[in-house]
Amino acid sequence: TNHRWDSIWLAGLKDTDPATIFDKIIAGEIPASVVKEDDHILAFKDINPMAPAHILVIPKDRNGLTRINRATPEHTNILGRLLVAAGEIAKDETLGFGDGARIVINDGPDGGQEVMHLHLHVLGGKKLNGQLG
Ligand code: C5P
Repeated sequence: TNHRWDSIWLAGLKDTDPATIFDKIIAGEIPASVVKEDDHILAFKDINPMAPAHILVIPKDRNGLTRINRATPEHTNILGRLLVAAGEIAKDETLGFGDGARIVINDGPDGGQEVMHLHLHVLGGKKLNGQLG
């Protein structure tokens, strides 16, 4: 199907913010190690893992969600889908996760966000301490 291209086209209609590297990953123009995908979300291994298991979960249609502080009630459905996917990934032993993980959203420059296309980090594969950072 053409759904990858459709989602990019739709994103372009609703989204005046610049495209990011994640659009190229969604389009398959640059490779990524995809671990989960449906019409709405894409999950792939982080290229620079911060934990033994580190997966990113992103909406295919960004639809204005450059960052979580742009979320509106219009985004409720996709935000739910992203969290459900993150929870499924966080218990996937084939990806290296054990009994638990940490799910993180960096928001904006002061939150350490570099790619302006909303993404959830699912981190695990070892026992994480109770601290952030
Ligand atoms: O939250 P933040 O914007 O900093 O996270 C972006 C993440 O995207 C980084 O962890 C980086 O390693 C990852 N990345 C990736 N593949 C790329 C570019 C960035 O996995 N091609």
